[in-house]
Amino acid sequence: AQSAPKKTTFGPLADEDRIFTNLYGRHDWRLKGALNRGDWYKTKEILLKGVDWILNEIKISGLRGRGGAGFPTGMKWSFMNKPSDGRPKYLVVNADEGEPGTCKDREIMRHDPHKLVEGCLIAGRAMGARAAYIYIRGEFYNESSNLQVAINEAYAAGLIGKNACGSGYDFDVFVMRGAGAYICGEETALIESLEGKQGKPRLKPPFPADVGVFGCPTTVANVETVSVAPTICRRGGSWFQSFGRERNSGTKLFNISGHVNHPCTVEEEMSVPLKDLIERHAGGVRGGWDNLLAVIPGGSSTPLIPKKVCEEVLMDFDGLIQAQTGLGTAAIIVMDKSTDIIRAIARLIEFYKHESCGQCTPCREGVDWMNKMMWRFVHGNARPAEIDMIWELSKQIEGHTICALGDGAAWPVQGLIRHFRPVMESRIAEYQQQQARA
Ligand code: SF4
Repeated sequence: AQSAPKKTTFGPLADEDRIFTNLYGRHDWRLKGALNRGDWYKTKEILLKGVDWILNEIKISGLRGRGGAGFPTGMKWSFMNKPSDGRPKYLVVNADEGEPGTCKDREIMRHDPHKLVEGCLIAGRAMGARAAYIYIRGEFYNESSNLQVAINEAYAAGLIGKNACGSGYDFDVFVMRGAGAYICGEETALIESLEGKQGKPRLKPPFPADVGVFGCPTTVANVETVSVAPTICRRGGSWFQSFGRERNSGTKLFNISGHVNHPCTVEEEMSVPLKDLIERHAGGVRGGWDNLLAVIPGGSSTPLIPKKVCEEVLMDFDGLIQAQTGLGTAAIIVMDKSTDIIRAIARLIEFYKHESCGQCTPCREGVDWMNKMMWRFVHGNARPAEIDMIWELSKQIEGHTICALGDGAAWPVQGLIRHFRPVMESRIAEYQQQQARA
């Protein structure tokens, strides 16, 4: 199939181009409702088209991982296509959605669980996997119940299990609940946890595609990534690729929370302008656009951007990198002018300090140190030179740890200093004046 020519303006997405048609629970999430919405349609034919055909459609679609890293999905899945010395292969679905501000995967599992179950089957087929393990955040009790019901229904209807959909392919799906650790959203910590150990990230290499869960070849994929695969296969990779900009294809779920009139989760075209998203779907910023202070565009690990950047930025991988931040999980946290921006970032750093697994020194000690400094900045009882010091500290953490949690803690601090250094300086000056008067 040929790639469709790219547009220069993006969104709004037409209703018939939405993949997640049950986001708000307007329909029955059970099998009957899912079948009415087109799920499980011609799944047998898709499976029989084979591994190469599925991988090719996913590659044509330009789909990039929706969990934050944005790695090309077709390429990642194709890493499983090599001899495994008799070991079974596994798909592990990362449903441990714990990034502050992020709840897109929760919505899928709550309202559209069959999309994920069917996605597991098709993605599993593309990898030659024997089974899928869905590792779901422990706090998502209702979602894990819905998911288990959907899995039971799929087994009972012969859609998964032995001879799935009558395709001759055997495929099982299991749900495993986490126990409340943010770090288990990191793929190798998740694998450790799935194996019954403490959720501590592993050094890479070996990569999971070589040595993953139970020592077998494994691909860990995000819920949204897996859930869009059936629709891509049914409508064609070039259909999905026609949305968004070059290298930033497809439709995407966005969470919009914070100081907006109508917080929501919405599916839109990739590369939609941030301002359009907030105004069209979330009822605008509380008190109007002029009341906007800053936005965290992709979950708490992505550096904030101030209002003037929000005016123009496009919500995709490249647009946000250019703005010195990232798409991350596409969870948009809006902060109006009533926000104490230093306190908001300090609260995030406290979260990372609490969630560090403690394995590596720059993260364990460095994030703890950043946390202590940030609370001094909140109250103003720091020296002006400490602003450069915490910047340097964040640079010493970034890129020097086993997993990305260290980076995730460093980047919010860097965003704060990049855009709100004068606010930090004036807080310190105010404190010094108060002390002088006392
Ligand atoms: Fe653990 Fe932090 Fe090191 Fe990740 S970066 S392995 S969370 S100590």
